[in-house]
Amino acid sequence: MESCKGREGDEVKCVWVHGPIIVGAGPSGLAVAACLSHHGLPYVILERTDCITSLWQHRTYDRLKLHLPKHFCQLPFMPFPHHFPKYPSKNQFISYLHSYASRFNIRPRFNQSVQTAHFDAASQFWVVRTNDFQYISPWLVVATGENAEPVIPSILGIDNFHGPILHTSVYKSGSHYKNKRVLVVGCGNSGMEVSLDLCRHNASPYIVARNTVHVLPREMFGFSTFGIAMALLKWLPVKLVDKLVLVLARLMLGDTARYGVRRPKTGPIELKLITGKTPVLDVGQVAQIRSGNIKVMEGVKEITRNGAKFMDGQEKEFSAIILATGYKSNVPTWLKSRECFTEDGMPKTAFPMSWKGENGLYTVGFTRRGLLGTASDAVKIGEDIADQWMSVKDKSYRNSHMILLKST
Ligand SMILES: Cc1cc2nc3c(=O)[nH]c(=O)nc-3n(C[C@H](O)[C@H](O)[C@H](O)COP(=O)(O)OP(=O)(O)OC[C@H]3O[C@@H](n4cnc5c(N)ncnc54)[C@H](O)[C@@H]3O)c2cc1C
Repeated sequence: MESCKGREGDEVKCVWVHGPIIVGAGPSGLAVAACLSHHGLPYVILERTDCITSLWQHRTYDRLKLHLPKHFCQLPFMPFPHHFPKYPSKNQFISYLHSYASRFNIRPRFNQSVQTAHFDAASQFWVVRTNDFQYISPWLVVATGENAEPVIPSILGIDNFHGPILHTSVYKSGSHYKNKRVLVVGCGNSGMEVSLDLCRHNASPYIVARNTVHVLPREMFGFSTFGIAMALLKWLPVKLVDKLVLVLARLMLGDTARYGVRRPKTGPIELKLITGKTPVLDVGQVAQIRSGNIKVMEGVKEITRNGAKFMDGQEKEFSAIILATGYKSNVPTWLKSRECFTEDGMPKTAFPMSWKGENGLYTVGFTRRGLLGTASDAVKIGEDIADQWMSVKDKSYRNSHMILLKST
């Protein structure tokens, strides 16, 4: 390790990375690491927290299970254990990821929050700064996830509310809300599942369904709805698949609009492919909505000191507010050379080509296709970097390293 000058002219410890720099030790970062190891390539993973898969370990609720069957969620080269159920629990998924990390001997550098990363055109290297180090490599893999930061909306009057207001990323269980009336803002998978969890703890959730959303049964005839749709897509156009799925969903769940959950005009699979918006997979929420245990409200007009006023003129008192308002990428906050990214921190190029950017930049896990997209990206990144690795002559590699260090 040597000292070198940072961008601001300060002295920092400089680490020449023999192989790619991966930012983020979630499932995506781990998957790329395993794929690089598979090709015998070295790498460094930088993780801002002190553990792998911090999202799953620290920012998910206790009752969470994988939404899709396990074979759609496995990372490259290692299936889930046979004894795991079809939909592994959060803790089972975390234990799978720990086994994955030890199987491929993945040891991230923890507490390394990447502050900036830029491509140095003169030297043709990526320069990645954390608090205390500067890492340098020809390759940078962005694996910080689509869910890096919670989205906190500004709602009129929210600062006046008397009780706790929390995002689903810090919600653990409904046990704290027994016999309490709770407002859940947002009706995606997290909002719906938190509402169900609140019901199961004898709380009284009111969910705000301002936007349209597709709710589908998690399974149809004992098979995952997602799996059925994927299989049908091999033979039928997406619009027809959507029609079939919606007919079956209506037979099984009824007309969700009758309970205040309106469907978008575009079908669920087409919508997912175009916008990445995931349908809500029903694991009991619809039954609770039908029986009135989860109340659906159209939209919040204003938060008051004791509760909320709604668009339809109703006013209710609440003990707590839970914001199920989603997450966003944090790429714009640290990646300075981001020609390949939108303002929202998502790749400009759509799946399946989103994994490769310019100048040795790669992205993994930004496909809006969950862990299935992660596995697909990771395999391609591993192969692509391995091809380049083979063609790089060790000597010129070392020479350019020396030139770079002198110039920084
Ligand atoms: C409640 C919930 C349930 C979900 N359920 C499913 C499911 O059932 N199936 C599915 O396929 N997907 C699901 N997802 C989607 C989920 O995002 C993926 O499963 C998976 O966690 C994505 O992995 P990732 O590594 O891309 O991102 P993450 O898991 O978010 O990991 C990114 C890592 O990067 C680190 N990081 C971020 N910024 C920096 C920085 N500047 N410097 C260093 N490190 C940084 C973070 O600390 C984190 O460890 C769910 C998401 C949520 C929120």
